Amino acid sequence: AVSLEGIHKFFGNFHALRGIDLTIAKGEVCVAIGPSGSGKSTLLRCINQIEVVSAGRVRICGTLQGYDERNGRLHELSPRAIDRQRRLTGMVFQRFNLFPHMTALGNVIEGPVQVKRIPKATARSHGRDLLARVGLADLADRYPNQLSGGQQQRVAIARALAMEPEVMLFDEPTSALDPELVGEVLDVIKDLAASGMTMILVTHEIGFAREVGDHLVFMDQGTIVEEGRPKQMLEAPKSTRTQAFLSKVL
Ligand code: ATP
Ligand code: MG
Repeated sequence: AVSLEGIHKFFGNFHALRGIDLTIAKGEVCVAIGPSGSGKSTLLRCINQIEVVSAGRVRICGTLQGYDERNGRLHELSPRAIDRQRRLTGMVFQRFNLFPHMTALGNVIEGPVQVKRIPKATARSHGRDLLARVGLADLADRYPNQLSGGQQQRVAIARALAMEPEVMLFDEPTSALDPELVGEVLDVIKDLAASGMTMILVTHEIGFAREVGDHLVFMDQGTIVEEGRPKQMLEAPKSTRTQAFLSKVL
C-alpha cells in the first residue's frame, strides 16, 4: 500500500532523511522506532506531503505522490491535486490538534462535510458510528476541553478515519498522555490494526510494537539501520546501534 524509494529530505543543508527504502503491504502495521532527531516524524510528513521530498518517490496504492507520471515525465501536481492525494493518508499527531470550538462530533464531521461535501445528516450518522468505534458514543457533544487527553486522542483518530484514508499515520500518539490513558488509545489502534487498516506508527511503546506490529523499523540519523519482524528484531537486534537504543528503552 505504501512504497518509498530512495527518499531524501534536506532542510537547508541539513540532511534529515538519507535514502529511505521501505515497502508496506496493504493491511500491514509498520512500527518505526529510533532516537530523537532520527527522522521518524519527517518520514511520516513526507509520506502525507506535509513536507516535499528532496529526492525519491513515495507511492500510495500505486500512485506516485506529488507528481503526474504521464508521458514518461514527471510534472508537479497542482495544490488541489496534492490535497486530493493527501486524503489517502490520515494523520494522528502527538498533540491531538482538535478544533477547540467544535464538539467531538463536530470535529469528526468537519472534513467529510467541508472537504468531501457529504450531506451533513449522513456525515453525522457516520460520525456517530466512528465515535462509537473508538468508545466515545456518549461523548459526541462534548468540547475538547471537556475530554481527557485519551478521549481527545480517540476523537482525533475518529476524525482521521472519517476521511476514509487508505493508510493511517500515527506520530507518537500516546507520548503526550498520562500513563493511565495510554492503554485506551493503544486499544483503539489495536482494533484498527485487527480490522485490516494499513498503518505506520511511530512510538516508544516497544511492547505494543512487538504485539501489534508486522514490521519494525529502527531509524537513526536519517537512515533505516535495521528492519524486520518485531519479535525477531527485539530479541536479537543485529546492529550495534539497534542494540544500544533498545538497551535504553527496554
Ligand atoms: P523525535 O523522536 O524527537 O520526535 P524524530 O525522529 O521525529 O524525533 P524529526 O522530527 O523527523 O525527528 O527530525 C529529524 C531531524 O530533522 C532533526 O534533527 C530535526 O531538528 C530536523 N528537522 C525537522 N524538521 C525540520 C525543519 N522544518 N527545519 C529544519 N530542521 C528540521
Ligand atoms: Mg518526531
